[in-house]
Amino acid sequence: MPQLLDGNRIRDEIKSELAPRIRAMAASKRAPGLAVVLAGHNPASEIYVRNKVKTCHDLGIYSETLTPPDSISTAELLALVQHLNARADIDGILVQLPLPPQVDTKRVLLAVAPEKDVDGFHPCNVGNLVAGLPGPRACTPAGIIELLKRYSLPIAGRRAVVVGRSDIVGKPAALLLLHQHATVTICHSKTPDLPAVCREADILVAAMGRPALLTADYIRPGATVIDVGTNRVTDRVQAEAIFRGAPEKLEAFDRKGSVLVGDVHPLDVLARAGAYTPVPGGVGPLTIAMLMVNTVEAAERHLC
Ligand code: NDP
Repeated sequence: MPQLLDGNRIRDEIKSELAPRIRAMAASKRAPGLAVVLAGHNPASEIYVRNKVKTCHDLGIYSETLTPPDSISTAELLALVQHLNARADIDGILVQLPLPPQVDTKRVLLAVAPEKDVDGFHPCNVGNLVAGLPGPRACTPAGIIELLKRYSLPIAGRRAVVVGRSDIVGKPAALLLLHQHATVTICHSKTPDLPAVCREADILVAAMGRPALLTADYIRPGATVIDVGTNRVTDRVQAEAIFRGAPEKLEAFDRKGSVLVGDVHPLDVLARAGAYTPVPGGVGPLTIAMLMVNTVEAAERHLC
């Protein structure tokens, strides 16, 4: 059996390291402050925000959720962000995506002060990442590096293949792996012979949003497989195809009517990988942990 990389355990480790830093800041100055902007009603976003706010609460980080209506305009949202930029008690601003369709998302993200951009999405912070300068890093990719380091899995000199080139996962993950001296290949939907490229990987990062697409054929025996994909499968035929040979998984699907699956085939990874992140319980928990790290670091810079 491959080594399971337990994201919940690493999240708890990171949180327990942050707690004394937060207590010290609260005792000497004030607690770090995070503002979350949740525009409109999106059930998935509401769950993500609830988890982020709960984690802040558990750690003693002050958090405030602003919930403008679905009908908010770009100008109104820009004014809200400017107000948060100016507030001395707020160190981090998180604009939960997606925004309502009439809002110009790029303009809103650009308006967040780079020093309060705890998601690491602002072009200034993307530039810092490219140049290897200090600054908040995108949370999910930063979580991947933490996971590899804390499990003492070597990165330097290894072949890393990242499947997916989004601004929030694929590109920053590739850059962070590069900064750790991996030899990195980035793949996307136009990459020819994806299985052959993936089989070159000592470290395979899957961030596509395609349930169980990376089967045994894509995995080099003994590779470290990091599965970022989070896909809810609701179609029984699809679930049956994925979990052929695992009747207990299919029974679980029948009880719930859905199952969460990564981009890597959940049974094939067990047969081929040397180490792997499960879905759920792998990369997911680290995303919020790294948001907390970015918030505490923003506060430390702000208050020093
Ligand atoms: P995007 O949709 O923004 O990007 C998907 C990328 O995958 C694109 O670059 C696309 O290529 C590539 N891709 C899609 N299909 C294929 C294919 N068949 N072969 C090769 N490449 C393909 O997704 P995100 O990066 O935002 O998210 C990816 C996954 O990670 C999703 O499942 C998402 O839910 C999950 N996620 C999980 C997080 C966590 O905390 N665990 C956080 C963020 C995301 P192209 O550019 O050519 O279109």
